[in-house]
Amino acid sequence: MDKTALLQQIFGYSSFRPGQEELIDGVLGGRDVFGIMPTGGGKSMCYQIPGLILPGITLVISPLISLMRDQVMALKTAGVPAAFINSTLNAAQMQAVYRNLLAGQYKIVYVAPERLDYGGFGSIAEKLPISFIAVDEAHCISQWGQDFRPSYLRIVNFIENLPRRPVVGAFTATATKQVREDVERILKLQDPVRTVTGFDRPNLYFEVIRPERKEKELLRLLASRRNKSGIIYCATRKKVESVCETLRDHGYAATRYHAGLEEKERTENQEDFLYDRKTVMVATNAFGMGIDKSNVSYVIHYNMPKSIEAYYQEAGRAGRDGAEAECFLLYSSSDVTTAKFFINSDSENEEMDPKQREMVRQQDLARLDAMVGYCKTDTCLRGYILEYFGQKHPEVCGNCGTCMGDFETVDITKEAQMILSCVRRIYDKLGYYVGVATVARVLQGSKEKKLLALGLHELSTYGLLNTMGRTEIRAMAERLEGEGYLVTEEEHKTLRLTPEAAQVLFQGKKVTMLVRKEEIQAVNAPAAGKLAGTDGELYDALRELRAELAQESHIPAYMVFSNATLTDMARKKPATMSEFKRVSGVGEIKAAWYGQQFLERIKAFREENELA
Ligand code: ADP
Ligand code: ZN
Repeated sequence: MDKTALLQQIFGYSSFRPGQEELIDGVLGGRDVFGIMPTGGGKSMCYQIPGLILPGITLVISPLISLMRDQVMALKTAGVPAAFINSTLNAAQMQAVYRNLLAGQYKIVYVAPERLDYGGFGSIAEKLPISFIAVDEAHCISQWGQDFRPSYLRIVNFIENLPRRPVVGAFTATATKQVREDVERILKLQDPVRTVTGFDRPNLYFEVIRPERKEKELLRLLASRRNKSGIIYCATRKKVESVCETLRDHGYAATRYHAGLEEKERTENQEDFLYDRKTVMVATNAFGMGIDKSNVSYVIHYNMPKSIEAYYQEAGRAGRDGAEAECFLLYSSSDVTTAKFFINSDSENEEMDPKQREMVRQQDLARLDAMVGYCKTDTCLRGYILEYFGQKHPEVCGNCGTCMGDFETVDITKEAQMILSCVRRIYDKLGYYVGVATVARVLQGSKEKKLLALGLHELSTYGLLNTMGRTEIRAMAERLEGEGYLVTEEEHKTLRLTPEAAQVLFQGKKVTMLVRKEEIQAVNAPAAGKLAGTDGELYDALRELRAELAQESHIPAYMVFSNATLTDMARKKPATMSEFKRVSGVGEIKAAWYGQQFLERIKAFREENELA
C-alpha cells in the first residue's frame, strides 16, 4: 500500500502535513532524514508510515515511557502490530516481547535508549531485520539542548554494531542551530534529507496576564472552562500542592503531578487525567514529556518557565488535535527570581565538568532573558516566539493577547452574504452601482424618500440587517473590501462586487472579522472555530458516546476519536459508512470498530431535531 493510502486507511487523515511527505519519501528512498517539527506537528507519522511500508522492523528510540505506551496502544487500536521495550516490563513480559520480535510479529518497536545495551537486546537486535531506526526527541543527544540525556550517546554505538546499517532518522522539536549541528554530527547522519517545518501553531491562542492575585485570576479563567481539559504548570512542588487544593475546594476535578510523589500515585494521577476522569492537571514541568493527550484545550502557566523552548513545548501540549486551544501565562516578577534560583542550583548537570557547567549556566540565563522578554513585549506574542526560533512571521497574528487586545474574532459569513447580495440586487434593479451608504440604508430598512422612490424597499435584502448600526455595516463592508470581495470604484466611490465574491455567496467561503468585545453582542455571531447551534449539540452527544465507548474498552477518550474528529463529524453529519470514512481522523479500522455506533447516534440526532 502506498503512503497516502496508509495515511487514509490506518490513520484516517486525507492529506499530509507540511514536511511529512518529504521525510517519508526520504526514508523510503533509503536516505537518512532529519525532521525538525514543532510539538504536535506530526513527527510520529514520519516514522510510523515508513515503518509500515518497509520490509522488516522499524525501531523507534524514545526516552518517553508514557509516549511509547500511548503510541503502541494507538497503533494497536489502528490494527498495527507494535510493542515497546522499557523498564516498565517485567522479565516475563520482556521475554515474550523478545520471542515475538524474533518470530517477526512486530512491524514497529519502541525502545528506551538505556535498553539498547541492556538485558541482551543488543544481541537480539543483531538477528533482526531492522530497516529503519527513528530517533525521537533527537535533541537529547546534545549537551547544548535543554534535555541532554547521556543514554542517547549509546545510540551511535548500537547502530555501528549492527551487521548492516539501517536508514537512520532523527526527529526533534528543538530548532536552535547548535543543537541541530550536534544531532547531525553525533548521530553520524549520512547526507540526510532535512526539513524544518514552520513552528507556527495557528490554533493556539497566546496571552500573558499580569494579575495582582494569581489565584483569583486562575479561578476566573477556569470558571468559563469548566468542562474542558487543561494543564496548569507551576514552578514548584509546593505551588502544585496548594493550587491543586484550591481548585478542589472550588469543586474542580483536579489532580496533581510532581517528582515528589510516589511513582504509583504519579501514574494513577496521570491516567486519571488521560482518561478524562479528572479534567485539570496541576503539575511541575516533570509532567507532560511524551504525553500525547490530544484534547487538552488550555495550558495555563501559573509561573513563568525558564525558557521559550520550555514554554513552547509545555504550552504546545494544548490543541494537539488541531482544535482551537488557549495558552495563558500568569506573570509576576518574583517568577524571575525563582527561575534564577533553579538555574543557579541546577543539580542535574553533575556529570559535567565545571567549565561545561558554567557554560550551560550562562546559556540558561540568556534563555531566561528571552523568556522574560516574552512576558513584557507589547508586540505580537506568536511573532515573538517564531522570531526566537528564527522563523519569519507577519507582524500581527490576530490570535494572541497583543493582537486581539479587547478584540475577538467573529464569523460574519452570513452578514457578508447579505451585504454582497444587496450590492448585487441594487445593481440589478437600477442598472448602476451605488455607494456604501446606500447599501447600508437598504440593509437597515431605511424609510428614506429617495430610497423608496427608487423602489429599493422592494428588494429581498431590504431590512435584513435592521438590528445593526450603519457604522457596523460599513465596517463589515470595509472588511469585505480588504478581503477582495468588494472594490470601491475610484471616481464615484461606488461599491462593486469582484468575481471572488461568488466564493462567499455561493460556495460558503467563511469570512471572519476582529470585533471589540463589547460590540460582539451587536454582531451577535458565534466566535470562529466553535460549533454553533445544532452542530454544537450534536458534538456534545458524540462526546458522550465517545466517553461510553472509551470506558467500555478501557482506553482514553481521545484514542477513540480526537476533538477535531468529533468537530468534523458534527459538521458533516455522515449518514452512510462511506460518508463516515470521509470525516478527518477516521481510518478503516476505527470506522469498522466505531462507525456503526456513531452513525446510529447521528441518525437519532437527525430524527430528534427533524434535520433533513
Ligand atoms: P509530534 O510531532 O508532537 O510527535 P504527533 O505525531 O503526536 O506530533 O501528532 C500530533 C497530532 O497530529 C496527532 O493527533 C496526530 O494523529 C495528528 N496528525 C499527524 N499527522 C496528521 C495529518 N497528516 N493530518 C491530520 N492530523 C495529523
Ligand atoms: Zn499576535
